Amino acid sequence: MKVNKMNRPNEGIKCMVNTCHYYMSGDYCSAEKIEVTPRNASDSQDTDCATFIPEDQAQGNM
Ligand code: SF4
Repeated sequence: MKVNKMNRPNEGIKCMVNTCHYYMSGDYCSAEKIEVTPRNASDSQDTDCATFIPEDQAQGNM
């Protein structure tokens, strides 16, 4: 899911994935919105942020 990257943190999200295109220092996410999958997860370990894009991959697309 390709979403808008804001120039400020999304205050509702704390994220530590510092290899993500949307990551902001201070453990913030600058994505306008995120999508979390999968349906029917039974544990937090089962869930993933589907909005994640690796920083190196994003640079080629911008
Ligand atoms: S898009 Fe997902 S993985 Fe990337 S910074 Fe935001 S919450 Fe973290």
